Amino acid sequence: MSHENQPVLTGPALWSAQAHLPSVLGRQLTVDRAEGSYVFTTDGRRLFDGTAGLWHANVGHARPELAEAAYEQMRRLETYHIFGRYLNDRAVELGERLAWLSPIDDPKVILNSGGSDAIDVACKLARRHWQREGRTDKTVILSREFAYHGLHAYGTSIAGLDFNRAGYGTESLVPDTARVSTHDIAAVERTVRTIGPEKIAAIVAEPIQGTGGVNPPAPGYLEGLQRICRENDILLILDEVITGFGRTGHMFATERYGLRPDLITFAKGVTSGYAPLGGVLVAPHIWQPFYRDSSDTPVFRHGATYAGHATAAAVALRNLDILDEDKLLPRVTELEQLLARELNALTARAAVVETRVAGFLGGITLTDDLSAEAVTDELVEHGFITRPLRGNTVQISPPFVTTDDEIRQLVAAIDTVISAQE
Ligand code: PLP
Repeated sequence: MSHENQPVLTGPALWSAQAHLPSVLGRQLTVDRAEGSYVFTTDGRRLFDGTAGLWHANVGHARPELAEAAYEQMRRLETYHIFGRYLNDRAVELGERLAWLSPIDDPKVILNSGGSDAIDVACKLARRHWQREGRTDKTVILSREFAYHGLHAYGTSIAGLDFNRAGYGTESLVPDTARVSTHDIAAVERTVRTIGPEKIAAIVAEPIQGTGGVNPPAPGYLEGLQRICRENDILLILDEVITGFGRTGHMFATERYGLRPDLITFAKGVTSGYAPLGGVLVAPHIWQPFYRDSSDTPVFRHGATYAGHATAAAVALRNLDILDEDKLLPRVTELEQLLARELNALTARAAVVETRVAGFLGGITLTDDLSAEAVTDELVEHGFITRPLRGNTVQISPPFVTTDDEIRQLVAAIDTVISAQE
């Protein structure tokens, strides 16, 4: 294009998530390099990544082993689709590996491009399951208040953070959704009765709520949810997009809480973000009817060009090796204990209402006198990335390769910033 024909651009062309919020507009930080638990920005900052990006960079940033896995795979086969008769060997291998790691016995593994994708598939499959069973009224998907399940059509529709559901002209983009209490299992039971269990296809829940404010489950809550599901023929979908692949010191939070879900969604930690990949683990009683060898076997018509992407799968396989080789799951358990101790000391501050830690996930809730957004902004000036969440809460979820000293430095910086703003 000649210079004279250059279009006039109003600011950066890239429409990134929430960039148009007044608190963000014109103040964005552009990362152009990273190493381990640190990222570097184009304006010369070196920042400790106290959130592991969006809870994804679990094995740390810019690891050569993962770059090599991607390079070698692309040199051999970038990808081949997995529709109909076709497969690619890497997707097959990752399917086997995930089936071995799965807390659901003998699962089928559906692969796609991320967490929002995985949620769409899980909710569609739950509805397809009941249609196939002839229980055609079972269409409602329940989710928890303050839940975040991504922002595709289903994730938007089942959002428990109301602002993510608002603005589309109807209660939800996809019909037949409702919210249940996040903490109170008796209230969940009442909602199920009011709607009618014969209309409910599934309940979706994050074992530890992330974006809703780092909310660990109330004692007995998840077990209660599972009981309600079993008693009422409702499928339990656990959204392990954050918690899967080690964030709680277990491969899945399902194991930590001793649960038996029908479907598990995953993403983020499966590749530590080195390639876009997510998916769903599907229990046998859901997949078996679709695999019957008969002329009237039902079909689940779902797929995508990049489902089972070979390079993403190669990266995932290497990432799963690293979790093992570097013994990162037991390390997460140590980090959880250290983070809990350090954050607990912050509760001495008048401005701190509460701190919550479950796995290597922490939340600090501040009184209304302080703003989590202002605290996280100021922490950037001290060299630390954290994130403001719902409920005036500061998110902490660093990479698993973080050192004890780095945790202490992060919490010391938080203490300094809070005391200066108190
Ligand atoms: N589910 C949960 C619990 C999440 O935290 C997220 C993202 O943060 C998603 C789903 C959506 O995943 P993605 O952003 O990969 O689409």
